[in-house]
Amino acid sequence: MNTRRYPHSSVSPEEFHKWLSALICVLNSVYFLLNMTILQKFGIGVIQLTVAVFGGYCFYKSSNNLYRPWHKYALMTMLTTNILLSIAIMELVAGATYWGLALPFWYYSLFGLRKGFIFSAIIVLLSAVVIFFRTDTTIFMPYRTVFNFTLVYCSIWLVCHIYEVQRQKTSVLLHSLALQDDLTDLQNRHALKADFRAFHKNFESIHMLIIDIDHFKNINDKHGHDIGDTVLTKVADLLMQSIQVKEIYRLGGEEFVILLKDISDETAHEQAEKVRKAIELGIFFSHNEPIKLTVSIGISSLRPEHEFTDFLRAADQKLYQAKHEGRNKVCR
Ligand code: GH3
Ligand code: MG
Ligand code: MG
Repeated sequence: MNTRRYPHSSVSPEEFHKWLSALICVLNSVYFLLNMTILQKFGIGVIQLTVAVFGGYCFYKSSNNLYRPWHKYALMTMLTTNILLSIAIMELVAGATYWGLALPFWYYSLFGLRKGFIFSAIIVLLSAVVIFFRTDTTIFMPYRTVFNFTLVYCSIWLVCHIYEVQRQKTSVLLHSLALQDDLTDLQNRHALKADFRAFHKNFESIHMLIIDIDHFKNINDKHGHDIGDTVLTKVADLLMQSIQVKEIYRLGGEEFVILLKDISDETAHEQAEKVRKAIELGIFFSHNEPIKLTVSIGISSLRPEHEFTDFLRAADQKLYQAKHEGRNKVCR
């Protein structure tokens, strides 16, 4: 069973948002200057100035790691309104309509598959209505203009959709290759390190449980490596069943780690005891012959000065103590 929830894309939407904000800021500044000077379109100029300023604000925030999800919604709402208004107000021959064709790409890149689809669908309908009522019949044929716009828009939309589906599949595959343990489907050491860094920033207290199967070498020697592998997989399943957290990792060999957030030392100890008992009572078989299995567990609690290796070493020392004191034991 896979315990990791995959991020929705491999290219960070935050990074994309940052550079899109910069682009929107520059483009709208240029249009603002054009409209205020040469074209004398003051109304749309003011809107473009607002979008340019907000684009600059978003870029500044993203560059300083102060990005908030509402930024991209506000930016895209402003930009979409700006484009629709330009189509509605400016002369159609000026070609503001073309900007509408870029929207599906921006929506999919910023909002992912589901919202990208919904926003693209809403905008194609709105644009078609606006273009239809704006079309100057002496220059354009309303039906055919709408027809052509919609067809080009839908072609771009379709490509964006296919691309996003593929991107998500690739992203899931890459994450599983990079962060998942091949044998047990638990998360691996890389995932543990990444989660540790994220938790260190966001949580006051973290406990690490390092769980080592007792005398595992004997199981390999007696029953063979394949049965050893099956036992490791069963232990992983039991760990997932015995504790209701998704932060369970295979560190390597017959060692596993569980991270627990925002609980007391006593609760961490109780959780570790629960895990130990679950394995002790678990039933493992090799060709109908039962295998007796126990684990020893070391617990460390995070101190502010701890780096990942210190935190792991502290848990490892407690594990060593548990082994020394006779195994099938929890030490903290
Ligand atoms: P202790 O109680 O002190 O932990 O003893 P132990 O036998 O469990 O520990 P030791 O470190 O001596 O042996 C660990 C064994 O785990 C040795 C190695 O062959 C086995 N092992 C490591 N990775 C795998 C694996 O992926 N599959 C199998 N089947 N065995 C593995
Ligand atoms: Mg070991
Ligand atoms: Mg061992």
